[in-house]
Amino acid sequence: MQIPGHIDPVTTGTVPLRGGNRIDLVGLTRDAIRAELVEAGLDAKGAKLRAKQIWHWIYHRGVTDFEAMTDIAKSMRPWLTDRYIIGRPTVREAQVSNDGTRKWLLAAADGQEYEMVFIPDADRGTLCVSSQVGCTLNCRFCHTGTMRLVRNLAAGEIVGQVLLARDALGEWPKGTMASAPETDDEDDDAGHYTADGRMLTNIVMMGMGEPLYNFDEVKGALKIVMDGDGLALSKRRITLSTSGVVPMMARAGEEIGVNLAVSLHAVNKEIRDEIVPLNRKYGIEELLQACADYPGANNARRITFEYVMLKDKNDSDEDARELVRLIKQYKLPAKVNLIPFNPWPGAPYECSTPERVRKFSNLIFEAGISAPIRTPRGRDIMAACGQLKSAATKPTRAELDRIAEEKQAALG
Ligand code: SAH
Ligand code: SF4
Repeated sequence: MQIPGHIDPVTTGTVPLRGGNRIDLVGLTRDAIRAELVEAGLDAKGAKLRAKQIWHWIYHRGVTDFEAMTDIAKSMRPWLTDRYIIGRPTVREAQVSNDGTRKWLLAAADGQEYEMVFIPDADRGTLCVSSQVGCTLNCRFCHTGTMRLVRNLAAGEIVGQVLLARDALGEWPKGTMASAPETDDEDDDAGHYTADGRMLTNIVMMGMGEPLYNFDEVKGALKIVMDGDGLALSKRRITLSTSGVVPMMARAGEEIGVNLAVSLHAVNKEIRDEIVPLNRKYGIEELLQACADYPGANNARRITFEYVMLKDKNDSDEDARELVRLIKQYKLPAKVNLIPFNPWPGAPYECSTPERVRKFSNLIFEAGISAPIRTPRGRDIMAACGQLKSAATKPTRAELDRIAEEKQAALG
């Protein structure tokens, strides 16, 4: 079914390489790095060892220069530098909110822009990561949905956000591996250093884009983030948020296995069709059934239902009661996250009053379901939920035609 204003999931396509002819190793699996090394001429055993060492330096130590890889023979390092890079997204702009939230506007090698946000709390630090430039889904309350241009981010661009955040927070393990000998013995790459206490403890796939419309790249990136020899973030500290791409939910559970958040936002067809147009394709019943079937969800690992509070739209007592009824009907191990609507220029909605949000929350709590109200973070720098939007736009058809005509005229 065609959804008005909806473009089918976009492909990742070929992203120009940041290092010119050199290959960016960020985002490749360990096996893919090994295959690259074999392709470049290393024998199988050497490639396996080097891939392991390089992986450790990239993801455990945050190194971007092959010269710093002290357990790789000195003579080998220029050979690597000639062929590969360990890239980072370009930082176009970095902002800090008065509540400590930080937002970065990043640019890919092809100039496409996307944002990431870091939200520090007393007991945790959460990085909100983007999966696409823009979003095809056009939820009516979401600023990202108003962007015209959409492209999937590649795995390296997704994991690159995490690497960059750790750079910016200065929390790669300190120390040197000078004691590590330059041998090819696989056991010798451990070295000695101390890992600092981490600021970045959690990741939410809640930045720009619909992660389940970019499944393979998001999966590749999160596998790297969870890899025990690298960033080693537990799947329990990672949450993937979907607006309800039902056919991909079971695979997300089975193949990625992180926590699930679902952008529900309404409890009846009429309203959800309006505010989350994907509902016209995958309705509430189907969505809740997919939640009930989500692998790994249980009382210890609940599914989060995100619910944006829109004045006079989805915020009545009746809505709250219906939400409780649905969660109970589908026997869902669930909690509800109430998100006060974050405004953006030209947004067609208003946030519910604080009293309304409180009452809505209480009704759900009284039914035995946790329904905290999320404190908006980083609103002053447009870093809060749903406020992200980069300037990426593409020329309209008419503009393209006009440009073509002008070019033609100039050519005579
Ligand atoms: N595309 C995914 C993940 C990114 S959005 C999804 O929709 O789930 C992260 C959360 O912010 C989603 O629940 C989204 O619905 C919500 N959101 C979007 N715009 C918002 C706004 N203006 N105010 C508050 N929350 C918003
Ligand atoms: Fe896309 Fe999520 Fe925004 Fe909807 S809320 S337009 S799915 S980013």
